[in-house]
Amino acid sequence: MSEQGRKHDVVVIGGGQSGLAVGYFLRRTGLSYVILDQEAGSGGAWRHGWDTLTLFSPAKWNSLPGWPMPPSEGEFPGRDHVIDYLVRYEARYDFPIVRPVRVETVDRDGDELVVRTEGGDWRARAVVSATGTWSQPFVPDYPGAADFEGAQIHSADYRGPDGFAGQTVLVVGGGNSGAQILAEVSKVANTLWVTLEAPTFLPDDVDGHVLFERATDRLHANLEGRKPGTPKGGLGDIVMVPSVIDARERGVLGSVRPFERFTGTGVVWRDGTGTRIDAVIWCTGFQPAFAPLSRLGLVEPGGRVRVEGTRSVAEPRLWLVGYGEWTGFASATLIGVMRGARDTVREIEAALR
Ligand SMILES: Cc1cc2nc3c(=O)[nH]c(=O)nc-3n(C[C@H](O)[C@H](O)[C@H](O)COP(=O)(O)OP(=O)(O)OC[C@H]3O[C@@H](n4cnc5c(N)ncnc54)[C@H](O)[C@@H]3O)c2cc1C
Repeated sequence: MSEQGRKHDVVVIGGGQSGLAVGYFLRRTGLSYVILDQEAGSGGAWRHGWDTLTLFSPAKWNSLPGWPMPPSEGEFPGRDHVIDYLVRYEARYDFPIVRPVRVETVDRDGDELVVRTEGGDWRARAVVSATGTWSQPFVPDYPGAADFEGAQIHSADYRGPDGFAGQTVLVVGGGNSGAQILAEVSKVANTLWVTLEAPTFLPDDVDGHVLFERATDRLHANLEGRKPGTPKGGLGDIVMVPSVIDARERGVLGSVRPFERFTGTGVVWRDGTGTRIDAVIWCTGFQPAFAPLSRLGLVEPGGRVRVEGTRSVAEPRLWLVGYGEWTGFASATLIGVMRGARDTVREIEAALR
């Protein structure tokens, strides 16, 4: 590719749902742009989800801007339905995506930012970081973890329950990943569910889009200085998808509070008693994939970049999209990323014109 072909108004790093949502708005601006993605194909993090990974809400609540997600076979779409949607979404809008290309660093060079990859450099007047979090699994620090001789995997690497048959398995983490993985591993293994506090379960007839509506109402109430009209509830509350209802019926959905430390063969609880454990599955979340930004000196000790909206305060040619609440309400969801992506592109357009 010529040097000119690698010079754009905007380079988007990451071709998952967030990068595509940004692309959707960019293609209507007339600005030149490219999306660089390290995956071999479409789908972003969804390509690495476990086989039975199920969305919290029906398809129509999981749409990117412009084209609704087609209905799924069951009520809640699974991983492959989402990947198929993202494949077709990309084809529909014919985004300029280059794959597989991993961005190593972003550097400043005069008026431009230089996006450096193993396959050469791209230059841009603005960069959008949409690298997601899936490649940065977070595991909390527990004393003795290094001495534990059993298996430890993160939900990012979990594929299915088969390898755990007949074992005693700790599932750590009280969100939807923890609940869904516990539900299927408990069919073949003895499981113990460790959560910081008792998980909050939604009623069976309430799906995840209600969480989104409640959170939206709270956001508006906050802005308007009124009391929210909806019950409390966070986007992390557990949605009773069929597998989790089945786990409750089998009586395996109880949880215990965290242990104190690991031993070579298990864990010791806060009351001093111990349990022998074969394996631990960490469903303890993720951190932003900010390796490409490291040389810009923007990433703070907690792993975030200071932003106003989605724009970096210290590097005004950089925007961050899709990392969760701190980069926009519900921005790490398919339906929620639209607002941040749209506002980001508006700002970029104003800055570059
Ligand atoms: C159990 C579970 C259920 C979920 N249910 C829902 C749901 O119902 N609805 C919903 O909306 N969301 C749901 N999610 C969340 C969703 O999976 C993620 O939040 C989403 O994938 C984030 O999209 P993204 O585009 O920001 O990041 P990603 O999908 O991770 O895309 C980022 C892309 O950037 C690439 N990349 C990273 N670093 C580089 C680099 N240096 N150079 C080049 N490319 C790079 C990555 O490989 C990837 O392709 C769920 C997650 C879980 C675990």
